[in-house]
Amino acid sequence: MVKWFIYKDVLESIMEFSKSFYPNEFSGMLYSKDNIIEDIYIIPQTKSNYNSAVIRLDLVPMSFYVNGSVHSHPTPNGDPSNADLSFFQSKDINIIAYYPFSLSSFKAYNSFGKEVCLEVIIREENKNL
Ligand SMILES: [Zn+2]
Repeated sequence: MVKWFIYKDVLESIMEFSKSFYPNEFSGMLYSKDNIIEDIYIIPQTKSNYNSAVIRLDLVPMSFYVNGSVHSHPTPNGDPSNADLSFFQSKDINIIAYYPFSLSSFKAYNSFGKEVCLEVIIREENKNL
């Protein structure tokens, strides 16, 4: 089974965004390389309401590595909806952050909607700086 990793600071940003959008849904795209989620893109003009968040796909940065999605659920339920499952199909990794948005309030899924293991890791300092 393919294992995924996410930097702790990225996960913290996801939870902060989820809290600030609450009770609406927050959504964004994930940048990953070698199965490590390194960054998050907030798509401009994303419309959100209680039930859904619509991403303007024409505004998604054209990058090979932008291959994941993240969105929040304003309820303590991290299971994907049918709409989520169809959206997941074109992504390698999909995160659902759910209420109360602690650092363990998330689930991750592959393109088939199957739950995958996502481990939180600490970003190494850039020693060249
Ligand atoms: Zn959802």
